[in-house]
Amino acid sequence: MVALPENSAPKNLIGLSREELAAELAALGQKPFRTRQLWHWIYHRGIGDFAAMTTLAKDFRAALTEKFVVARPATSRAQRSEDGTQKWLLRFADGQEVECVHIPEEDRGTLCVSSQVGCTLTCKFCHTGTQRLVRNLSAPEIVGQVMLARDALGEWPSPQDDRQLTNLVLMGMGEPLYNYDNVAKALKIIMDHEGLSISKRKITLSTAGVVPMIERCGAELGVNLAISLHAVTDELRDQLVPLNKKYPIAELLAACRSYPGSSNARRITFEYVMLKGVNDSPAEARALVKLLAGIPAKVNLIPFNAWPGAPFECASDEAIQAFSDIVFAAGYSSPVRTPRGRDILAACGQLKSDSVKLRARERLEAPL
Ligand code: SAH
Repeated sequence: MVALPENSAPKNLIGLSREELAAELAALGQKPFRTRQLWHWIYHRGIGDFAAMTTLAKDFRAALTEKFVVARPATSRAQRSEDGTQKWLLRFADGQEVECVHIPEEDRGTLCVSSQVGCTLTCKFCHTGTQRLVRNLSAPEIVGQVMLARDALGEWPSPQDDRQLTNLVLMGMGEPLYNYDNVAKALKIIMDHEGLSISKRKITLSTAGVVPMIERCGAELGVNLAISLHAVTDELRDQLVPLNKKYPIAELLAACRSYPGSSNARRITFEYVMLKGVNDSPAEARALVKLLAGIPAKVNLIPFNAWPGAPFECASDEAIQAFSDIVFAAGYSSPVRTPRGRDILAACGQLKSDSVKLRARERLEAPL
């Protein structure tokens, strides 16, 4: 290995845990309470320029400027729709890009973040599944998505009330539980009360079902869980979500039943993409209800968004309605995400398909 010269690129402070930040400051000869001050400037005030951190001594600020940066990812494209939805294409130092989307609603605003560039899961209906995994995102790259959204929304210092960014979903590109360490590190920073302060109750992690990591995720992070279920038999789920061969439905649902912190007040979301003639029959709706018995659950029916060459079509409106009625009659709320208008962007997992991107772009590029 080649040793890097000591004064190589300055180190990014975004993405360091409190302990790591404290260690960096101790190495500069600073007292422990400085960590809290610096944390406040970076994550509560959103300040990236050390010179502007006026509660810190001048020589300390100079030392920080020499060694460190507070660096967000670059934005290679920013778009805003007439309904206020914003989409950023972020570019990292190695040129890789991911999308991050903010969806404003009446009483909340949700940010959809990515956890990997590409994905290894090869789910048959998912466009990202046709790309190979390029790499995991690092903790700074995940935290950076939230910082950048806060910048664009003008939400510094982190407001306690009336936020435009209230909720966070890990439903962008990638499988968050296959990048658990970086995701967990990033979420701990994002949840910290003296910083970005997005509570675990407002964060939802979506997984295709990496069973061994589900318990750990609940115990260590306590965030809401969403499961990309999409089928009610192993035979079909093996095909749609190949990860099912490793962790079949019974094991997945057992992990859901014992998910730490789930309750009627904190339900697990089951995502179910509606595919014509594949998984959209009333019999499957009834089987779904049976499978979920005993789990505090809600069901999100997602109309399939086709992409060029996709081997499926979206279920008909009637089939989706009938399916939804059965799920609803069994006592589960089952909102349908309409693949149109603003909701096309709200279902951020859907933004991955080219055709959707095109349709979204038409709207995004419409005059404001
Ligand atoms: N890997 C994680 C998170 C990313 S996918 C997971 O599988 O949950 C986020 C959501 O978008 C998932 O429920 C996924 O199944 C869904 N999705 C992906 N492609 C889609 C498409 N073309 N149409 C509708 N939903 C899709």
